[in-house]
Amino acid sequence: MNVYSTLTRSKQDFVTINKNRVNLFVCGPTVYDDAHIGHGRTYISFDTIKRYLEYKGYAVFYIQNITDIDDKIINRSKESGIPASQLARKFEKRYIEDMHKLNVNGVNLFARATDHVDEILDQIQRLIDKGFAYETEDGVYFEIEKFPEFGKLSNRNIEELESHRDIAETTKKNPQDFALWKKREGVDEPTWPSPWGDGRPGWHIEDTAITEYYFGPQYDAHGGGLDLIFPHHEAEITQMEAVSGKAPMVKFWLHTGFLNVNGEKMSKSLNNFITIRELLEDYAPETFRFFVLSTHYRSPIDFSKDSLHQSEKSLDRIRKFYEQLDVEVCENVESDYEVLAKWSKEFFDSMDDDFNTPKAIAALFGLINDSKNELDNLADEDKIAIKAFLDDAAHIFGVSFETEDVNAGSDDLLELISEVRSELRANKQYDLSDKIRDNLQALGFDIND
Ligand code: AMP
Repeated sequence: MNVYSTLTRSKQDFVTINKNRVNLFVCGPTVYDDAHIGHGRTYISFDTIKRYLEYKGYAVFYIQNITDIDDKIINRSKESGIPASQLARKFEKRYIEDMHKLNVNGVNLFARATDHVDEILDQIQRLIDKGFAYETEDGVYFEIEKFPEFGKLSNRNIEELESHRDIAETTKKNPQDFALWKKREGVDEPTWPSPWGDGRPGWHIEDTAITEYYFGPQYDAHGGGLDLIFPHHEAEITQMEAVSGKAPMVKFWLHTGFLNVNGEKMSKSLNNFITIRELLEDYAPETFRFFVLSTHYRSPIDFSKDSLHQSEKSLDRIRKFYEQLDVEVCENVESDYEVLAKWSKEFFDSMDDDFNTPKAIAALFGLINDSKNELDNLADEDKIAIKAFLDDAAHIFGVSFETEDVNAGSDDLLELISEVRSELRANKQYDLSDKIRDNLQALGFDIND
């Protein structure tokens, strides 16, 4: 299997540190608002990557951090009057609910920054002891000049760090140095005690403190959106390799392309900002998943209603074909159906080629096109083998190809409601009984007393 790493800018054989184990870390959300469809894109991609690695037999330990202390959270807390910790918990809960709705449930451990302050303090202390970091009156900073390899992930040089988000700090030795600890004495913000005074961690150190604690100084794969390559991931490498003296910190750096809306960047000011909750009011989660997987995870993806409808149609086509396979899947079925052999090989070759889901989806349609007219003449074994293959593909993609019977159970439910109404009427509770009737009528049911 070949996987592209941003560090080497090439695809490499996926050789892990510990045989069939994969330690995977993906940057999680900053929990100050509801997750949007761009988050959905990134986390569906990594969920699918984990599913595929597991399908291949790897035991994957997948950690996501939750950034629950940050300027955005503090600002939102001040605006809303809700304490920062309460605000962060609320949006963390909503984020995890949204992910479950998208069938994104592969994360083994959510690690909050605020639960790892001890590890953060310890890492900062070691960086100071080794001469990589220094204290000033407003914080502790990493001294970029002490790490000449800075820039190897993003291919940028030290000067470009001028754009760093901590540039406003004036007490640094060099404007490029980045904050490990921000002193915040006597301010109305959440702070933690530290050897350098009360304050809070810099943004980058939370991730390396967490990954060092759970994985050690070196691990297999680290993911996130493209926007995080610089300065965030660059700073992570700098801190971790400096403190451990071991390189590389991460073997495979995986970055997802951005999701844009109708060709434009998604932003609140452009009024094209769509939360996952809003999306799911109109579309099935599986449609969105299929839409995301129809583009390679590293490429930008353009969200539009048209392309979502296209995905809906494609999924319907696969489901119709699946329905025609009127057999039950069972173990140990041998099939030498050549059309299936050809397209399932194409499917897995594509997934082995840096998780190329659009090519793998094309292979499913290759199979459908080449076999749909032959189905009536196929032996049951061949149909079972096709169905088993489609089940595997559906599992890897995190969708189902079964046609859902949306009316299943609704007759029983109506009967129950009707019985309840009869009892209400018998007890002369006409108001409530009429209200139920009116609401059912508004939903399109024909209720006749
Ligand atoms: P944030 O909540 O901004 O800290 O982002 C959490 C993760 O979502 C990061 O890996 C981001 O790169 C990713 N992300 C944010 N916006 C988008 C977007 N529009 N498209 C794809 N990924 C995104």
